[in-house]
Amino acid sequence: MSKKAAKYVYSFDELRLAERAAGSADGVRALLGGKGANLAEMAKLKMPVPPGFVVTTEACKAFLAAHERFPKGMWEQVMKAIGGLERATGKKFGDPRNPLLVSCRSGAKFSMPGMMDTVLNIGLNDEVAQGLARLSGDERFVFDAYRRLLQMYGSVVLGVPGKAFEELLSGQRARRGVWNDADLPTEDLKAVTAAFKKLIEEQARRPFPADPFEQLELATQAVFRSWNGKRAFDYRKAAGIPHDLGTAVTVVTMVFGNLGADSGTGVATTRNVTTGEDQLEGDLLMNAQGEEVVSGARITLRIGELARLLPAVDRQLRRIVHVLEKHYRDVQDVEFTIERGKLWMLQTRNAKRTAKAAIRIAVDLAKSKLISKAEAVRRVAPEHVDYFLHPQLDGAVCAKARDEGAMIAEGLNVSPGAAIGQIVFDADTAEHWAKQLKKKVILVRPETRPEDVHGMLAAQGIVTSRGGRTSHAALVARQFGIPAVVGASTLEVSAERKQMRTPGGKTLKEGDWLSIDGGSGEVFAGKLETVVPDVTDPYLVALLDWADGFRRLGVWANADYARDAERARRFGAEGIGLCRTEHMFFEPERLPIVQSMILAPGAEQRAEHLAKLLPMQRTEFAALFKAMDGLPITIRLIDPPLHEFLPSRDELHRSVVELETRIRLGEGDRAALESQLSSKRRLLESVQAMHEQNPMLGLRGVRLGILMPELVRMQVRAILEAACACARQGVKLKPKIMIPLVATKAELRLQRELLEDEARKVLKEQGVKVRYEFGTMIEVPRAALVAGELAEFAEFFSFGTNDLTQMTFGISRDDAETGFLSEYLHQGLLAHNPFASIDLDGVGQLMETAVRLGRARRKSLEIGICGEHGGDPASIAFCHRVGLDYVSCSPFRVPVARLAAAHAALADAKA
Ligand code: ADP
Ligand code: MG
Ligand code: MG
Repeated sequence: MSKKAAKYVYSFDELRLAERAAGSADGVRALLGGKGANLAEMAKLKMPVPPGFVVTTEACKAFLAAHERFPKGMWEQVMKAIGGLERATGKKFGDPRNPLLVSCRSGAKFSMPGMMDTVLNIGLNDEVAQGLARLSGDERFVFDAYRRLLQMYGSVVLGVPGKAFEELLSGQRARRGVWNDADLPTEDLKAVTAAFKKLIEEQARRPFPADPFEQLELATQAVFRSWNGKRAFDYRKAAGIPHDLGTAVTVVTMVFGNLGADSGTGVATTRNVTTGEDQLEGDLLMNAQGEEVVSGARITLRIGELARLLPAVDRQLRRIVHVLEKHYRDVQDVEFTIERGKLWMLQTRNAKRTAKAAIRIAVDLAKSKLISKAEAVRRVAPEHVDYFLHPQLDGAVCAKARDEGAMIAEGLNVSPGAAIGQIVFDADTAEHWAKQLKKKVILVRPETRPEDVHGMLAAQGIVTSRGGRTSHAALVARQFGIPAVVGASTLEVSAERKQMRTPGGKTLKEGDWLSIDGGSGEVFAGKLETVVPDVTDPYLVALLDWADGFRRLGVWANADYARDAERARRFGAEGIGLCRTEHMFFEPERLPIVQSMILAPGAEQRAEHLAKLLPMQRTEFAALFKAMDGLPITIRLIDPPLHEFLPSRDELHRSVVELETRIRLGEGDRAALESQLSSKRRLLESVQAMHEQNPMLGLRGVRLGILMPELVRMQVRAILEAACACARQGVKLKPKIMIPLVATKAELRLQRELLEDEARKVLKEQGVKVRYEFGTMIEVPRAALVAGELAEFAEFFSFGTNDLTQMTFGISRDDAETGFLSEYLHQGLLAHNPFASIDLDGVGQLMETAVRLGRARRKSLEIGICGEHGGDPASIAFCHRVGLDYVSCSPFRVPVARLAAAHAALADAKA
């Protein structure tokens, strides 16, 4: 006998069996898809859910693997499950006397809004329609449902372009002179139904299947197949969802929201998912079917209206969503339908939310003890925090724009943030302009659809003239943090003519600039200015405070100026991990002194210029010490190749040639030109003499300090004189002086001797006791390998992972990131950009080695990282694992790093 076929179908009341088969709640979601699992869960909680069943993701995977054939036994199980629905409802599939209708819905483990296709009203055909009309006494309703089935079935299952149906329908509306389908009389709907059937027959070259079972079979196949469709694929790629999960098919008994004034349909979130406020939010449409709310094709009512229209239903809905939020311990996004005064729940899932809402909700849930503080911290992603540090439209600029009439529309503020870009009216152009032409674009559409997602993702911002808070545009924008304004209904958007008209009569065309504020819902013509906000949001402050309580890693900042240090400190930095002193040399009034210093023929002349630089550096250091009073400050001595401070060789060459030509042609004052020429020639010669083929591997870092010890002495003097002056004023400090690019013990020993000699002198002169520390960067692979020897002379290490990565790979960062590196990433030769996130296998191993050897030699060795990786969450997790003391990153990444460091510690605690 053959083996019993696997179980591919679970009815909503078989949740127990599914749990047993799948092992865990997570397993159930993977098996039944989020939608199916949650419907079964709601049924278990005794909530009003129409009877239904799920065909599993296992069936989908088997189907796709077997050249699109259902696995053995699956279809028989579906037929049996339909029998179950018939018994539960007392109706019969395909029976005109009392027909059962169902929806065929997709649902994967992770919710992919609007990505996969759902077909409603399966089970209708000409005869059943007649029967249902007799039964319900509402012929209009029946033909409305029938034409919807044909429309969805035609486009989703049989591949007829959706536009063709829309055109027939809008033609009918125009002939009747009405705006809404709801205003079309029955005879028109009948005509539309007939026209749709004809359209299908012509375009799909097969008639619409009259047999309900055949309808269900083809629809199931289409849902399975849509898992591999382009739009689903694009969405998964953008959202980081694996491609091998498959989708389930959920079959649900139809309930109808289009049976008159006491019927309707809606979507709601248990809290405001834009701001996080604890208030039911949502959209409602009376006398309509579900997909109309989601598609944003009709203007909806606010959910608050339900209390007025159907108070009992409103109370029941509020009770249910309250229970759901408690049950799932998270904000829920629900879909429901009211059929003649009776409420039916059709979906619930964890709601997508903006960064702002994510933070407030996490904090509020923890405060109400629904989740722990650790869980709240875990639920907020580093990107959520990052959002707060992104530009917003400048308030004063907006006010002025409003006065000048540049505010052209106001819509719903569904996804906050400022976006500025050039208008495009279709997704393909948006993608092309953004990716190929590197333009910033704003996608403007009447409404968006799943096939627009690639363009939405490429855009800076999104504007639609139709749709509500839960429209497709709003959902996608929120999920991906793209600023968006939807339902800006006063804009007349014509995608065909690539233009839009404002209520004031202005016309904006493709390529015109537009600025939007997704936080307020305002749309401005033109290119407005933005400002970077501060982290003062009270919920963010609370959350980061909790995060600080969990993390072990310190979070420091890279700051060269006092003003950066102040900002870093406001953002929560606990020290400065890197102050690049050379930045002080680039100031325009100092550069000429620096140049003379570099070009000085001997030590004596050089000393003269260094003496001029000394007070300038001293002032800068003093300001920095004051800004960071009480916190550690790491100062790196000059690092870059000196030619960076000099005029470019090519430019000098050009001016020499130009001067020579002018002299030859007898132009201008000969004597003056000659003297200019000779000074340029001298400069060119010096520059040429210093020219290096590979300056990043040349005379820089510690090597400079060894060749120009006076430079080191000047910098040390400036640091310690400033430190003494500050100490006298009561500032608490202990500067850490750091040597870059060290590769050998001998280099470090020499620098330390030099530095200590100068330090002794200064401290004696000043008569103040200031302690300082001496350390080195680890940024050359050799340094990592001999870290034990270096630790003899260094009290601290700081990983310079930019150089370390560049030298470990032998890849020039400056050239590679704009060159072959993208090809490497594209071809999958590298899994990720090693300059963005630490390469654990190579660079990471060097770091681990250095930590081990360094600490073995000197137990108290303090170790941090100051490369840009210090602000990258994945790299921060690694730094935590290998036991660094702190990460240092740009001031703007400090809040992100605080959270990421907490995540790393929490992950540790869990494991
Ligand atoms: P999506 O994943 O795009 O939200 P859904 O499967 O949730 O797709 O269905 C689309 C719309 O159809 C939703 O508004 C849903 O509430 C509605 N719908 C689905 N099944 C039924 C049903 N059995 N009765 C009434 N409305 C339904
Ligand atoms: Mg849905
Ligand atoms: Mg470096």
